[in-house]
Formats: sequence, C-alpha cells, structure tokens
Amino acid sequence: MVKKLGSAIQDNDHRNPMHKETISYEAHGNLYLNITNRCSADCIFCIRRTCDGVYGYDLRLSRDPSEEEIMRELENLNLTTYKEVVFTGFGEPTCRFDTVIRLTQWLHQGGIPVRLDTNGHAALICHGRNVVAELKAAGLTALSVSLNAESEEKYNRMCRPVFEGSYQAMLDFTKKAIMAGIRTRMTVVGQQSIDIKECERIATVLGASFRVRSSL
Ligand code: SF4
Repeated sequence: MVKKLGSAIQDNDHRNPMHKETISYEAHGNLYLNITNRCSADCIFCIRRTCDGVYGYDLRLSRDPSEEEIMRELENLNLTTYKEVVFTGFGEPTCRFDTVIRLTQWLHQGGIPVRLDTNGHAALICHGRNVVAELKAAGLTALSVSLNAESEEKYNRMCRPVFEGSYQAMLDFTKKAIMAGIRTRMTVVGQQSIDIKECERIATVLGASFRVRSSL
C-alpha cells in the first residue's frame, strides 16, 4: 500500500560515523554525485538494503553534504575529463531539488554535460513547482528515469513509494522531459516478475530510450 504524503521521505538508517563520506565517485568515464541518502521510495530491490555502496565506494552518508562541500570537491577535479556528471548515488537526488538545480546551473555554465538519475517523483516532492521546466532552464542534458514496472499495482508493490500517485507522476515527469527536449531514457531492474517487453513498449511510446539495469 502507498504511504500518505507527508514528511515520510525515507532516510538511511545504517550509519557508521567511522566511514569516509563519498560525495563523488568515478565509474564508466563519468563522475557520479552522491548528495543524499534520502528517498521517496523503498524499493525491494534497492541495493541500499544489502550493501554499503557500489564500485568499491562506500555511499553511506551521515548527513547530506552542503552545496559548498560538494562544489569544493568538484573544484578539485578536472571535470572536462568526464563524459557526464551524474546526480545519482545512494538516494533520490531530487529530495534536494534546489541543490540539483543550483549545481546543474553551475556545471552547465562550465560547459559540463549533466545527467540526473531519478525515480521521477520530483513533482510530488516539490509540489506546485514546474520541476521539468526548472531542470531544463538549469541546463540539464540528460535524464534516466526508473520505470521499474509495467503497471501501477506492481510498481507500488515493488517500489513502495511515499506519495500516492507516484507511478503516474513518474510517467508524466518523463513525458514532460521529452517534450522539453531533454534526452531521456527509462530503466528497469532485470528480474523475472517484470514484463520487460511491456516496459520497453511504455518507454518507446513516451519517446524515451530503454535500458535494463542490474540494481538501484
Ligand atoms: S532503488 Fe532508487 S528509488 Fe528505489 S529506494 Fe533505492 S534509491 Fe530509492
């Protein structure tokens, strides 16, 4: 059952004060940003449930890093060497939507391509805002939206979103992004309970590319 709207955005409970905080990490020629462990869903397949990070990086955060801390870290890197800077990590980046917008603007001004990996709930997290227009205006280059299931019923069972209407909100978010000209793909986690062909059809009808991912 979907939880009621409110302050129920999931936090990450597994905190170890001794681990090194990873704000950014490299993989696949990209730089990935880990700006929060909070999320508006609690997917049964989320790797946060079973491990501390990816690619050998510990992505558990004791708190959200400030924008200043993120920018200081980025200023120490040669960002032009990466294919993209990607908001992703061990949580839903749009739980910090204003930070995503400001950092995207800053990176875009520096000529750096920026991608957002998201569950597509931004319009519910930031109720009343035109989130796609804000992302487009900030200079976002690409989006990867987690479709995760071919039906709302299956999505709610697997992703356990905080907000009512999350599945439709995710589809609407994707449609608006494509109409705004943001390069967009949709993804699912490859597992037997998913009708992958139907998910691919949904993505294609919306105008997105499609990818089957391994987790998160
Ligand atoms: S898989 Fe993504 S959307 Fe689902 S709980 Fe994990 S971080 Fe949130």
